[in-house]
Parts: sequence; C-alpha cells; structure tokens
Amino acid sequence: METIGLFGGTFDPIHLGHLRAAAEVRRLARLDRILFIPSYIPPHKAGGGAAPAADRLRMVELACRRRAGFEVSPIEVQARGKSYSIRTLRKIRALSPAARLFFIVGIDAFLDIGTWHEYEKVLAECLFIVTGRPGFELERAAGVLAGRLRGAIGPLAEAGSLAGPVPPRFRIILVPIRALDVSSTAVRDRVRRGGSLEGLVPRAVAAYIQEHQLYRGR
Ligand code: ATP
Repeated sequence: METIGLFGGTFDPIHLGHLRAAAEVRRLARLDRILFIPSYIPPHKAGGGAAPAADRLRMVELACRRRAGFEVSPIEVQARGKSYSIRTLRKIRALSPAARLFFIVGIDAFLDIGTWHEYEKVLAECLFIVTGRPGFELERAAGVLAGRLRGAIGPLAEAGSLAGPVPPRFRIILVPIRALDVSSTAVRDRVRRGGSLEGLVPRAVAAYIQEHQLYRGR
C-alpha cells in the first residue's frame, strides 16, 4: 500500500528546515511520498511582508524539483478559502483512495492543535507524525491532548516503520529528527537586512525571492 505524508504550512517561504524535516520523516518512517501543501492566506490577513499565495506555491515547487519523493499540491491555494485541514484531508483521500495518509506537523504547530478547526476529526481520520524542532521538546506533545488521545501517542520506535501495519493504539507518532534551526521568520528578517540566504533556503528559492523582490517591505 502506498504511504503518503501530508506536510502543510504557510511556507512563507519554504526553507531548508522544512526540507530537512520532510527528508528525515520520509527516510525514518519509510514513506513513499511527501506532499507539500501550502496554505492559502487571504490577502487582507497576510499582514506585513508576507508573500502572495502564488509566489509561496511557486517557491515550494522550485524546492521540490529534482528532490525524489517530494511533491507539491496546489489544493489549498486553489481553493482560496480558509485552509481547514479536515477539508484538505478529505480531498486528498478522494484523490488517493488506496493510499495510507499521514499528517506531518512540527512539534511547535502540534502544541497548538487545540485551536485547530475540528482537530479531533482530523485525528480520527488520519495518523499524525510529529517531528522535533529546535527549541521545542517532543515530549511535550502528550501534554496538549486530553484523556483517550493521550494514550494514542508514542515514539516511532514502538509504532514500527509505517511501511507495514501500525499497531492500532497509535494515532500520533513522535519522530525525533536531526532538525535544522531555521524558520521562515528568520529568512524574512535576513532578506530585510540585505543578508545572504545561503544555508537557509535552496538556491532556486533565494533566486526567486531576489527576482520577485519578496519580503522587502515591513
Ligand atoms: P514562521 O517563522 O513564519 O512561523 P515556520 O518556519 O514555522 O514559519 P511554517 O510554514 O509555519 O514555517 O511551518 C510549516 C510546518 O513545518 C509546521 O508543521 C512546522 O512545525 C514545521 N517546521 C517549520 N520549520 C521547521 C524546522 N526548522 N524543523 C522542523 N519542522 C519545521
């Protein structure tokens, strides 16, 4: 059975931290593909210095080009509405009915799960992979879940490779990775200060930012 990791985010812009996390998860959990899904943010909400959805999508496409097993879905950007994970998940499920889907999130994003729209439905329909990120303890993940779900969390070492059947008790699988200390905020700050993006984003993304004069404003 095909295994696909769904990796959503604003990707404003995509950076080497995202790519490292995706590569580590794909390798450690033995997923066939990682599908990057940039979210749509309405222009009035984007705030100072954020890039338009079409540019964020294009940069993710550039970053995934020639990286085996990495693909991009324009599904949320094209929907142009608020990006709800449950809707996205159901659309992808309809496109790949036979695949086993995993929802990938960094621990910083997972700690906010209580604020997500209908997160319990997302957790009921899809297994989660939570990755480490510098500055956030992976062990804190259990603390944000109530009762039944707290028992559904466990390390990859116990859940297995994910290429085969996952023990039924698992809904949320913790994957410690060698994460990079890079954020989109740091990339935008660097652009504003006129610094080099070497070591923060892929070369093609740096060239795109330069060519389209992104992140120059406040
Ligand atoms: P910002 O600095 O604008 O808040 P960000 O760098 O956190 O952005 P997002 O697009 O918001 O990037 O993140 C998308 C997903 O990638 C989230 O699940 C987040 O936890 C994860 N992620 C982002 N950066 C890293 C990193 N360096 N290592 C591991 N996971 C990451």
